[in-house]
Amino acid sequence: MNFELQNKSEKNVSLDTYQRAFKYGAAELGIDGFKATVACLLVKEFPNHPNILGLARGDYSDGVVIALIPNKVCSLQTFFEELTHAQQYLTGDLVRRKRSVLWKGESYPLNKSWQDKVYEISPWEQEAKDRSVVLFDGFLKREVHRLLDGSVNCYDAVGQLKCCFGEEDIFKHTSAYYQKQIEHK
Ligand SMILES: [Zn+2]
Repeated sequence: MNFELQNKSEKNVSLDTYQRAFKYGAAELGIDGFKATVACLLVKEFPNHPNILGLARGDYSDGVVIALIPNKVCSLQTFFEELTHAQQYLTGDLVRRKRSVLWKGESYPLNKSWQDKVYEISPWEQEAKDRSVVLFDGFLKREVHRLLDGSVNCYDAVGQLKCCFGEEDIFKHTSAYYQKQIEHK
């Protein structure tokens, strides 16, 4: 799986973190071995859609484009949501047509009211949201272990991670890390 990352957001973003997030997410989603490209664009805004944080488009089996606004905390969760949509496209579970969406063989009409009101509770959105929560937490755990295994102290680890994760979540994983160490002594 190919990953292309471009930062057009005019914000200072840790691109390394996104690279690691992709590697982790693609493996967890089982698409790391696919012969395809995920192109990820970090953007300043979506001028035509002021309310959305990210989107994914992929009508071809060989590539998906995802775009998102890198807001401070939680934009990685949006990243994982869009990456899940990439997986849905690449496996053929999700096929976008002109006036409908094909989800696991079932057709959903794509009209204005569906788009606005029901879209968020569509099964592919639900799946992507659910998986993004799990992936976001799993990736944070991995990041905590990467830093603390590499003998970064707890304070510096929090300092490095709080650009992308909530402090409560970081503390949850750092204390679990130390708890485990105590148990193993
Ligand atoms: Zn979504």
